Amino acid sequence: MKFKSSFIVILFFLLSACAPRVDRATPTPVVNGAAGIPQVMFDAALTPSPVPFQFNLPTPGAEPVSGWRPPLYPIPWALSPYDHFYFSRPIAADNVNWPLADYRYGGIFFSPDIVHTGVDIDAELNTPILAVGTGVVVSADWGLYTEAPGDQDDPYGQAVVIKHDFGYNDKTLYTIYAHMSEIIAVPGQHVESGDVIGLVGETGITTGPHLHFEVRVGKNTFYNTFNPELWTAPPQGWGVLVGRLMDEKLKLLTRLRVEVSPMPYELPVRTVRTYGVGAVNSDPYYQENLVLSDLPAGVYKITLEYNDEAMQTWIEIFPGQVSYFTFQGENGFDLTRPPAPEPGFLPIDISATPSLVP
Ligand SMILES: [Zn+2]
Repeated sequence: MKFKSSFIVILFFLLSACAPRVDRATPTPVVNGAAGIPQVMFDAALTPSPVPFQFNLPTPGAEPVSGWRPPLYPIPWALSPYDHFYFSRPIAADNVNWPLADYRYGGIFFSPDIVHTGVDIDAELNTPILAVGTGVVVSADWGLYTEAPGDQDDPYGQAVVIKHDFGYNDKTLYTIYAHMSEIIAVPGQHVESGDVIGLVGETGITTGPHLHFEVRVGKNTFYNTFNPELWTAPPQGWGVLVGRLMDEKLKLLTRLRVEVSPMPYELPVRTVRTYGVGAVNSDPYYQENLVLSDLPAGVYKITLEYNDEAMQTWIEIFPGQVSYFTFQGENGFDLTRPPAPEPGFLPIDISATPSLVP
């Protein structure tokens, strides 16, 4: 089928962009905040690092490469009726970037037509990959994308799909774990959060070992993904920044570079871009096109450039919560949260359209 084959080519570029290229900090004991989940140790002989962030010096303005993180809040975690941090993390590490800065959800790597439907998490080859919530393994094989079991040309490589025991309202939740070096779970197996389901690898189309992780809502398809950073529990005491950035005519701004800096020292600066156009879905409540998780509670400065003009605002991040802002071009920033939905509000509306039309 012409569409699918061309799409695989596109996916090649998409997934080949998932190239870990960061220096890894000293491995530390892994902590998973969900109660009762045993800690997994990468290397117990090494000393945990108390350093909140490490800088990728001397590159100016670089994203912190890695960082210590507190244990996660227990799942499910939701302080408001609109939040749904239902999952733990698939790499139960407190020293890996989450996710890789340049390979977030909605990212565009090589072509304006290609959007990233998950997050990439850099990890050593054969690092354990953990189920992020209770559920049943519905697929554990090559061929997730091509729908051809055993297909070793599949861009996702060896991948596992978990259908979770819980949903979001009446929508089924799935999580996807791709590029495994080895699959450990078997189809039909019931897993708990923290169970090892496979090992980090570079099968499929990648240029280095990493985990490609997706959250799918409603249906187990490429077009039903949502931003994993809005579905996985924050580290304790840390929060999540969510934004909707538009021009004056309320048209979404794509690929806009935004800097987020903790006050008062303004270091480290973290950069994030608004979603590209394509097979990405915004949360039905927030209607966001930008998410930056893992921010220690505190005040941050948000800076961006619009029409050659520097625009900035300040926002407070609260423990375990979403802090929300909108931007409307020349009209600037607004920190008002979205209004409470109507009684008939449907939490999930799959609005993504295929990024490639055959
Ligand atoms: Zn990826």
